[in-house]
Amino acid sequence: MNRKNDPSLRSWVEVPKGSDFPIQNLPFGVFKTPGLTPRLCTAIGDFVADLQVLSEHGFFDDLDIPTLVFAQPYLNDFIALGKAKTSAVRNRLSEILDDDLEDWDASELADYFLHKQSNVQMLLPVKVGDYTDFYSSREHATNVGSMFRSKENALMPNWLHLPVGYHGRASSIVVSGTPVYRPKGQQMPDGAEKPVFGPSRLLDFELEMAFVIGKGTTLGESVSAEEAEDYIFGLALFNDWSARDIQKWEYVPLGPFLGKSFASTISPWVVTMDALEPFRTEGPRQDPAPLPYLQAKGPKSFDIQLQVEILPEQGQGKAVCHSNFKYLYWSMAQQLAHHTVNGCNIRVGDLMASGTISGPTPDSYGSMLELSWRGTKPISMPDGSSRKFLLDGDTVILRGWCEKNGLRIGFGEASGKVLPAKG
Ligand code: MN
Repeated sequence: MNRKNDPSLRSWVEVPKGSDFPIQNLPFGVFKTPGLTPRLCTAIGDFVADLQVLSEHGFFDDLDIPTLVFAQPYLNDFIALGKAKTSAVRNRLSEILDDDLEDWDASELADYFLHKQSNVQMLLPVKVGDYTDFYSSREHATNVGSMFRSKENALMPNWLHLPVGYHGRASSIVVSGTPVYRPKGQQMPDGAEKPVFGPSRLLDFELEMAFVIGKGTTLGESVSAEEAEDYIFGLALFNDWSARDIQKWEYVPLGPFLGKSFASTISPWVVTMDALEPFRTEGPRQDPAPLPYLQAKGPKSFDIQLQVEILPEQGQGKAVCHSNFKYLYWSMAQQLAHHTVNGCNIRVGDLMASGTISGPTPDSYGSMLELSWRGTKPISMPDGSSRKFLLDGDTVILRGWCEKNGLRIGFGEASGKVLPAKG
């Protein structure tokens, strides 16, 4: 076991009970303040730790890392150093923050490098080159297939043989806290003879997680399912906002387009594969067995609890969905092996999202489309109102955390408020 994941480690920085950010997590992100340019950071309790300041004080000197890497507006250059270096930085951060280790004690510098999270602005963590969205939850694909086709033909013939995906839009990926405008577009209402144009009336969230590519490949090269995790830097929460009415009319035959590309919200923290290691678990059994290039030994999934809250403009919020990353049928390793099997190259900072993560029970469905079963089962809210899809003024908050043997690490939030269509 990685000793930096030891549940008994404690930090000299106070970590409130139930915090997403104990010393065993140490995710990476980017922040700025009115007085400080964008720079890399980690999270500890309610604080961010400024890696640039720690670097200037020599804490990473023996790791042979260019200081400028920490003074960037994105994690990309840091990630590109490779896992040997980025893991060494995480280990050093653990030493710096550990209440038992004297060698790297930085507590005297706390005023210089710790900032309350509430006093900083978290930025988009990676400059995303390419974004791919998969469709890897069997429950989600079955639910959607049942709604739009029939229960017998819910899964398309290819679904159990390959991780279905499409190329998404990177330019509209925004960090948590960024408002989302209701998209406008063409829709074909039920029973209508020609399409209408206007703001989407069926705006939805998709509960997803995304992984960040940590190592590139060259054209023609394929990553095996066995090696795939070496190419994954870490994971973040991801809301792949979707306009179901636009999507339904436009998607034949080439798949999702404007119903998806108007916005996707990512959490500001990238939790490393190192930190997730204690929560590794088996995914669902795969029958039929996938082709050899999609096979890898050992557990390739992670036990990550997921939650979606809808917070209306006025009044109380409600957690409408409780799901888990481990429900995904296709693992990240399989997604990446499939993505590169044709020789398509990947680059550091590329983002691959899981697809909506629905579980077996109705309260675990990861979209309003499924939760309200296409609008036929409205969800009641604490203020007496109900939701079939999202209303203007609603804030959607995704949360995720792992819990085991007294250790809890989390992902923070991916939050976004729906604003009325622009202009
Ligand atoms: Mn999606």
